[in-house]
Amino acid sequence: MSAFTSRVLVVGGSHSGVQLAVALRDQGHTGPITIIGAEAHRPYQRPPLSKDWLLGKVAKDTVLLRSDAFWADRDIRVVSGERVVAIDRSGAIPVARTDRGTEVEHDRLVLATGATARRLAVPGADLDGVCVLRDADDALDLRSRLERVTRAVVVGGGFIGLEVAAALRSVGAEVVVLEAGDRLLGRACGPETAAALLVRHRADGIDVRLGAELVAITGDDRVEGVATVDDTFPADLVVVGVGVVPETSLAEALGLACDNGIVVDSRALASDGTTVAIGDVANQPNPAPGAHPGARIRLESVSNTLDQAAVAAGTLLGHTVPYPGVPWFWSTQGTHRLQIAGISSPDDERVLREDQAKGGFTTLYYRDGRLVAADTIDAAPDFVAVKKALSQGATIPVDRAGDASVPLRTLIEQPVPA
Ligand code: FAD
Repeated sequence: MSAFTSRVLVVGGSHSGVQLAVALRDQGHTGPITIIGAEAHRPYQRPPLSKDWLLGKVAKDTVLLRSDAFWADRDIRVVSGERVVAIDRSGAIPVARTDRGTEVEHDRLVLATGATARRLAVPGADLDGVCVLRDADDALDLRSRLERVTRAVVVGGGFIGLEVAAALRSVGAEVVVLEAGDRLLGRACGPETAAALLVRHRADGIDVRLGAELVAITGDDRVEGVATVDDTFPADLVVVGVGVVPETSLAEALGLACDNGIVVDSRALASDGTTVAIGDVANQPNPAPGAHPGARIRLESVSNTLDQAAVAAGTLLGHTVPYPGVPWFWSTQGTHRLQIAGISSPDDERVLREDQAKGGFTTLYYRDGRLVAADTIDAAPDFVAVKKALSQGATIPVDRAGDASVPLRTLIEQPVPA
């Protein structure tokens, strides 16, 4: 049997699983492909759940990742609403079993099982009106509560928390964001970007509290408020956005190395050398320009699901596909658009650009004198220029990057050929 006709089973029917199946067909695979997803929905896009879809601005069908006609045309079998509960590798041919009794024989296994929302461990965390936002069912639940909400508390000042806070504010709710750290977006951006976003959210009427140590969520059968060490906040809705937990249970049952996700190599191969793992569940070698040798990362972004799926499809077909892009990310928070190209680290040199007239703000990150990343707020041209520079292996001179009157795209310096 050739790699091109092998039977591929993809566990997880979201961004990375879907993209892997598409990439396999694009790269010439002709064998059977089955995607099994636990959710009772056809594969859909997650980003709108905290943005336009939450606010009822887009219809359900427009957030589907692909139409049923697409799957039929590509001869890809999509099973929705069934969870793979076991992979039996004891016989000659591995078999996956779902909670509804479906069995799927396969030659190659792809784990695209993503992550689940982290829950709070304080009293009252399971009261009615305490919500998380990871999947379509969470979003349906949250959306059904929007009309009645007057006072909301969002726990967590990360991407999801800030997006939901802005959405709630836009429907007229009073919104408090409680962030335990001393700044917003502690895992993703530099302190200046975080501070610039804080100013914008407060100006939009969101009451952001930093260093807020949660004690309890209060109420009898439904939520009535949130207590921190220093204060209490009345609330008829609490949205918890405190990160995710990678879904590694199948990988662990298979004996695969797991450490903050399934540990994979640069070809997306897990520790058994045959299982492929991709997307939010994969702990991979950091693929960003300028990454320190040996550095690893678990990326939670749509761009990574696309790039890593291309790598993994190549691996399944027996050839090496280098990580094709520069990791990037976007987050729409009310009227503000945060865009990130590359991956920064706290010890990078930072250069700031502020366009007072247009309200744009950019932080560029340099490592050993070379551009490695940028965060931009409402500064799309800067984002595009940095992403382009990084994908070309080019840089932008550190001593000129801070002059906001000069477009960054005009400063890109191509690498000198060796
Ligand atoms: P997931 O999307 O987590 O999907 C994994 C799937 O596997 C799930 O459907 C799960 O049910 C299924 N599964 C797990 N175990 C099993 C099993 N045993 N059997 C069958 N199925 C199983 N990224 C951006 O770049 N920009 C954004 O603006 C942005 N906004 C976001 C907004 C929200 C509300 C959320 C939740 C995420 C957002 N993201 C954004 C992140 C992006 O959606 C994720 O990076 C992406 O969904 C990861 O895809 P994935 O397929 O790896 O994992």
